[in-house]
Amino acid sequence: MNPESNTTQTYHVLPGPKMGLVTPEYLEQVAALAKKHGIPFLKLTGAQRIAIAGHSKESAEAIWKEMGQEQGPSKPVGIHYIQACPGEKWCKYGKRDSLALGKKIEKALMDIPLPAKTKVGISGCAMNCCECYIRDIGIFALKKGWTLIFGGNGGGVPRIGDVIQEGLTDDEVIALARKCLEFYASNARKMERTGRLMRRTPIEALQDFISGNSSE
Ligand code: SF4
Repeated sequence: MNPESNTTQTYHVLPGPKMGLVTPEYLEQVAALAKKHGIPFLKLTGAQRIAIAGHSKESAEAIWKEMGQEQGPSKPVGIHYIQACPGEKWCKYGKRDSLALGKKIEKALMDIPLPAKTKVGISGCAMNCCECYIRDIGIFALKKGWTLIFGGNGGGVPRIGDVIQEGLTDDEVIALARKCLEFYASNARKMERTGRLMRRTPIEALQDFISGNSSE
């Protein structure tokens, strides 16, 4: 079937691939289910996930069920996804292990409730394949350690994020990202993305909060 012929249905993102990592077995399972339910095509999303497209709500629910889950993920608004590049493990330019850091961040920060969806990008070197300057939380590696960027956005109102600190270890960058998210949770309006918050907020307010000099 021509994918263009049935594009009015909503996408449903499949459970599974995190940071774009999939096993051959997972792909085989997805392909078998897609064929069984007559799904015309699958979409690789910008979040490095697989979306079922051009199908009914019922078949999406059936696929979720057959993949061992009752429904799509339900969690408070917070980190929407973590994108990570192959990093030093698989890329010759990589300076640090972005995938391993992504897993640690998922464990440490994924469940924090936040005012709006929040995207994390992690790149293993300064080439920034995960576009860290336009993520709410962007992290990329240099030889001296991780650089943390906050408040970027690549949407309709783009913003280049602010570099918060460089030369960080895994633990330090996670702790600093947590601080930035706490500042965001305390100061943003409901549904306000980090980029919009930082447009109307002096960077010094965030720096004071991080260093503990804030009057809040
Ligand atoms: S950001 Fe660097 S390490 Fe990551 S995929 Fe791109 S070139 Fe490789």
